[in-house]
Amino acid sequence: THDLSVAAQMADRVTVMHHGRIVEQNSVEEIIRNPQQEYTKNLLASIPSLQTTHQAFAVTASPPILEVNDLLVHFPVKAGLLRRTVASIKAVDGVDFSIYAGETLALVGESGCGKTTVGKAVLALLAEAAGQVLYAGKNVLELDAQQMSKVRADLQMVFQDPNSALDPKQRIVDSLEEGMLAQGIVKQRVKRLAIINDLLLRVGLDPEFKSRYPHQLSGGERQRVCIARALTLKPKLIICDEATSSLDVSVQAQVLKLLLDLQQENNIAYLFISHDFNVVKILANRVAVMYLGRIVETGLTDEVLQNPKHPYTQALLAAVPSLEPGHKINAELMQGEVPSPLNPPTGCHFHPRCKYALPECKINYPQQNAISATHTVKCVLYAEKKLTD
Ligand code: SF4
Repeated sequence: THDLSVAAQMADRVTVMHHGRIVEQNSVEEIIRNPQQEYTKNLLASIPSLQTTHQAFAVTASPPILEVNDLLVHFPVKAGLLRRTVASIKAVDGVDFSIYAGETLALVGESGCGKTTVGKAVLALLAEAAGQVLYAGKNVLELDAQQMSKVRADLQMVFQDPNSALDPKQRIVDSLEEGMLAQGIVKQRVKRLAIINDLLLRVGLDPEFKSRYPHQLSGGERQRVCIARALTLKPKLIICDEATSSLDVSVQAQVLKLLLDLQQENNIAYLFISHDFNVVKILANRVAVMYLGRIVETGLTDEVLQNPKHPYTQALLAAVPSLEPGHKINAELMQGEVPSPLNPPTGCHFHPRCKYALPECKINYPQQNAISATHTVKCVLYAEKKLTD
């Protein structure tokens, strides 16, 4: 594994490899508390944890740069010779959130909960998307191709897998030039190349890399190219879809620092889609927890991670591995798998897996309740809670 937090939960002994050689072996406690080799020390220092302090975020008085209201993505299921629609997969089923300039909103949840579909819908990449995605006063879901191409420069995406995000037959320079050419900006090639050289340096790559093909780069280098590509058009918002989850911890730490630096320099907002709470703790100002197509809890990062209210959030956090001595994951708070969005449970979608479920949870979908001015939860257990200071 490249995940030392998982190793700490599972292993009795740990063997650390570097450049094809074993550099250190010991009990898991000794490796974590008393690493001897520089490489092991660096690996441990790279690991994000729930104890890491995240950036403070003040809820700004200025309006959000992106506002999502009642977003729906229902994929039709067709059958028979006439391909009639016989059912729908409710991948996203009434999602609301806002993002402010310069902040990071993390969208978290298990695989299959609809996070990636939200990201694609926000960029108007899905014909099935309905609802409102307000950017610069316009609903991007209603824009025609020409209007949308102007907005594309401001809204960019970094995908999880840099291998499939880059065309293997295109040199890096061609991938990085593509957006500027499509937008018809920076007409002179010499200026485009200057921008590309500068961006490659910004993401920690030698400008010489631009003449290479993707297979000539490591996974971390390819992901840096994807980040550089997202920056070529000076976006206002970048959707990072599990952008660091395929990277080794040391490379992941570098990419996270890079994202934070770029955000501070350019006031970029991130929608950071992730299932990794340890990474979220480092990067996010606010968190939205998603379950089966709906957001069930939102709040400032500390509110949600230190004081989770929704039973689903509590169960997710209890299952997060950690390097902390004596830490034990608790997988008992949630049973079974995520149900199919083709046939979601009635009432609260979480009720078949929730150990606190009440009879009414099977009938009514819970309303949103305020825990604080910035922390909300959709769960009947908080129905009496009134908004307080
Ligand atoms: Fe559990 Fe009911 Fe709350 Fe849903 S509404 S999370 S089933 S207690």
